[in-house]
Amino acid sequence: MAQNKRDYYEILGVPKTASEDEIKRAFRRLAKQYHPDANPGDKTAEEKFKEVNEAYSVLSDKDKRARYDQFGHAGVDPNYGAGFGGFDGFGGFDSGFDVGDIFGDIFGSFFGGGSRRSRRYDAPVRGEDLSYRLTIDFEEAAFGCRKEISYARVEHCGTCGGTGAAKGSTPETCPICHGTGQVTTQQRTPFGVMQSSRICERCRGKGKVVSNPCADCRGTGFVKKQKILEVSIPAGIDNGQRISLAGQGNAGENNGPYGDLYVLISVRPHPIFERDGYNLKCEVPITFVEAALGAKVTIPTLEGKGELTIPEGTQNGTVFVVKGKGIQSINGKGKGDLYVTVTIEVPRNLTKKQRDALAAFGDLCDDKNYAKKQSFFSKFKK
Ligand SMILES: [Zn+2]
Ligand SMILES: [Zn+2]
Repeated sequence: MAQNKRDYYEILGVPKTASEDEIKRAFRRLAKQYHPDANPGDKTAEEKFKEVNEAYSVLSDKDKRARYDQFGHAGVDPNYGAGFGGFDGFGGFDSGFDVGDIFGDIFGSFFGGGSRRSRRYDAPVRGEDLSYRLTIDFEEAAFGCRKEISYARVEHCGTCGGTGAAKGSTPETCPICHGTGQVTTQQRTPFGVMQSSRICERCRGKGKVVSNPCADCRGTGFVKKQKILEVSIPAGIDNGQRISLAGQGNAGENNGPYGDLYVLISVRPHPIFERDGYNLKCEVPITFVEAALGAKVTIPTLEGKGELTIPEGTQNGTVFVVKGKGIQSINGKGKGDLYVTVTIEVPRNLTKKQRDALAAFGDLCDDKNYAKKQSFFSKFKK
């Protein structure tokens, strides 16, 4: 072993008074910096990495650090200096050095932990789901419709059957990993020989490579295609609901199944009707004469014109329910109702004749004709 060793504190760049934590932090930083994986083929870095590990193995151990502080290198290395020895129960840093969490941290960050080992990269994976926003008219939602949609999706290449290999050829076993999809590397470290596995970069873990790629998909096994689909929209669908179409999404890796397509429904508002579940609401203006005398008035329905009987003395804002004139429920069970709110229109732009007639009518009226007004002012007087 070299006789002109550098000072361990100097190697870690910490003062002699450094705390355990400061030493640990300095070690982590330097070990990452000089790790052979971060510096492939760099002999200087490799030497530094060993040096840093050695310094830490001593300074992180209370007893060894005390001996080092007192005797220098000779205090912790029985082979250091001629004729010096006799430290019992001390095995150097190849044994008895607890690498603990430091070990896990560093190697975890370089090798990505051990959890990938079990995952298979050649197993079929279900493709992604796609979504498509479809805007339809109010009536189309109420009665149902069929719509043609066009969207881009990823499909398995039909030319090569999704393998990526040109016609007449098949994917070959990866020459780097010999079909395992994993590459195992051995690393000499001061802790011993480290063995680690990682995904083969050549075949990306699949174990197979395509040397003669399919011209249509350039070896990927996938092609992007514009898909045209006729979608059946059921009667009663509402704004914000979605229809799922199984298998109309993207193709999956390794010839995996297709994902689904979700058609998200937006319904354009109607100029007259408002929807509340399967019920419809609308406002219908009537004249004050119709309201006073009662009348049969025309109302709108989704199927066309309808008729509503207004009783005499109908007040502004009265709501009439027209049964079964709402929307077909999406499960086919029954229909909602139509809620008609009447608004009474007071006539404007009166002629002289109309004014006189109204004034004469007014003179004929008394409190009995205006119950609401009467009760209001009787409360007011109290
Ligand atoms: Zn292809
Ligand atoms: Zn491979």
